[in-house]
Order: sequence, then structure tokens, then C-alpha cells
Amino acid sequence: MPIPPERHRARRDRVRDAVAAEHPDTTLLVTDLANVRYLSGFSGSNAILVLAPDADDDLIATDGRYVDQVAQECPDLPTVIDRDTLTAVVTRLARSTIAVEATMTVGEAASVRQALGEPVVTSGVVERLRSIKDEDELAALERATAITAAAFDRLAAEMRAGATEVALARRLEQLFGDLGAEDRAFDTIVGSGPHSAIPHHQPGRRALAAGDLVVVDAGARVDGYHADMTRTFVVGETILPWQEEIHRVVEEARSAAAAAYLPGASARDIDAIARGVVAREGLGDRFTHGLGHGVGLRIHEAPNVGARSTGTISSGMAITVEPGVYLPGMGGVRIEDTLVVTDAGPRILTEAPRGLRMVG
Ligand code: ZN
Ligand code: ZN
Repeated sequence: MPIPPERHRARRDRVRDAVAAEHPDTTLLVTDLANVRYLSGFSGSNAILVLAPDADDDLIATDGRYVDQVAQECPDLPTVIDRDTLTAVVTRLARSTIAVEATMTVGEAASVRQALGEPVVTSGVVERLRSIKDEDELAALERATAITAAAFDRLAAEMRAGATEVALARRLEQLFGDLGAEDRAFDTIVGSGPHSAIPHHQPGRRALAAGDLVVVDAGARVDGYHADMTRTFVVGETILPWQEEIHRVVEEARSAAAAAYLPGASARDIDAIARGVVAREGLGDRFTHGLGHGVGLRIHEAPNVGARSTGTISSGMAITVEPGVYLPGMGGVRIEDTLVVTDAGPRILTEAPRGLRMVG
């Protein structure tokens, strides 16, 4: 469902106010494409959004490939079509005070400096707003996560010994499409047997065999919004005691940490809850990555939930909780959900069984 233009306009006004509060009479050049999309609805691969002190001076610049798309997606914004979008923009902004995003490339920043003088560099202005999802965003995330959970369930029913990791990854992505997703949210991870102990294993030609743990980490994308979910399976009809044990520990960590995603909680404290559960079982050094990350127009966005996080959790954030335990050479378990923080407590979006499901 396309988001109505007035919602994008309201988002732009909030960013405009945030910029004006620190840098009056300053025009912000939005070059991060996720931020451009958030503020305008434009989903193409090349654009600069100009946020002027006066909303009537806002415009979006892109190139000739997107003439029709930009008119359709941004009916309320004046557009500039030019092969060299940055030059076209700065030419129109002579004598303005300019702010840029810290993610702008060094080359682009040099062009701005040369044409208009030293720009103010802003960091995280749009990203902070994006970390709190509005109802349009939550609706897209709900669809993406529901498709993801349903596709996982279908894949599990089809998983057999002998299937390769790469075949399972492609099959899962096909199911995302069949169920209504526009794409996968990121490169699907399927790690079987010893590969399940590699947190971001790239699926390869290895075939599933009886006794394997299989970690599947994937998500569907809907209207630009990314779902993220991990479940761990076991191939065959026997679950070895060590497999059951690490699965129990990871699920305990996930459940304890998920319950702590409350408005006002410190991200670092939530990470410590999960890490504490794993450490109590003597497996602290086997949980080798952060606990979670925001999801939205990017698969990884603010806030970060890890041992070095400094942020606080707020109502409306969509975040993952994904503890894992990895035993090199043997196998690993990760369980990941995407949830929304609400005043009434965390609402899990990837609601689906988390037990160590036997497949094949
Ligand atoms: Zn994931
Ligand atoms: Zn994740």
C-alpha cells in the first residue's frame, strides 16, 4: 500500500524542524536513499532530496531513468531531472547555507564545498525519526514478518536430508515471492551441520545430513520494509543432548531478553540479560555477536542492541532479538524474532514455533 503524500510531507516537516532547531535557515541535502524514501516515497536508486527552510522550496532530483517513477511516487514534490543530480541541485541553491548527511560520499561533499562553501555536517537526524515506526511502517513490517513466518513453516515441511543449503535458500526466497513479498530482505543464510556454527554462513553446496543442526536466517521485504527471522532445525529423528542443551540456553536467553524490550530500557542492559543467561551456562564465549538491531527501510538500522550500545529503547521501535550459541566444528543455534516495542510490552511480529523442529 503506497503511503499517502501528506504523510511524507509531515515527516519532512519534522526533519525540517529538527534541522532548524540547530541550524536556522539551512537547507538539508538528503542523500541517503533510505532517508530519501522515508521522506518522499521515492524508491529509485539515485536521488537527492532538498529540504529547504521553507517547505515550498523542497524538491527532489533524480535522473532520466526515473521520470515516470518520481512523478508517480512523489506527486507533491517539484522534481529536477538531470544526469548529474548533485550539480543540478547545488546550481539551484546558490548562496544558501547547506547541511549534508554524514553518510554523503567524500567526493559529493567536495562538490558541495566547491560550489557553496563548507557545509554543516549532520548525523542521524532522519535515522532517529526512522527508528520510531509510524502506523504505515508497522503495517508493512507486519506483512513482511507474517510472510516470513509462513514461508519458514512451508520450508520446514519440505526440508529433507540431501537438499543443499543453496537450494533451500533459493526455495525460501521463492516462497517469499509466492506469498506476496517484493523481494528478500537480505542474503538468506542457511548453515547446516558444522556450518550452523558460522553465524553468517553463506549457503553453499553442502547437503543436509541426518543429525545436522540447520540455522536458517532470512526475511521477506514488503514496500521497502525488511523482516528478519531465524529458526534452527535438526535433520532426522534424533536430537543429541548437546543440541537440545544449546537450544534450551538460546531460547531462554531470547525469551528473557525479549521481555526486557520496554520503553526506557537501556539497550546495553537488554544485551546483558541475554548474555547473562548464556554465560551462566558456561557458554558466554560462544555468543559472539550483538543481540539485536532495528529493522525498517534497512535491514540494519538504529537502534543497535549490543554490549557497547549507548541508546535507550522507545515505544514504536522495531528491533530484533537474536541470541546464538556456536560450537565450532559441531554446530550452532540461533533464534531470532522481530518485535515492536509498545507501552504494553513487546509485540513479537515473527510469531512462529521456536522449538528445535525435526525435519526430513
Ligand atoms: Zn537475521
Ligand atoms: Zn538480524
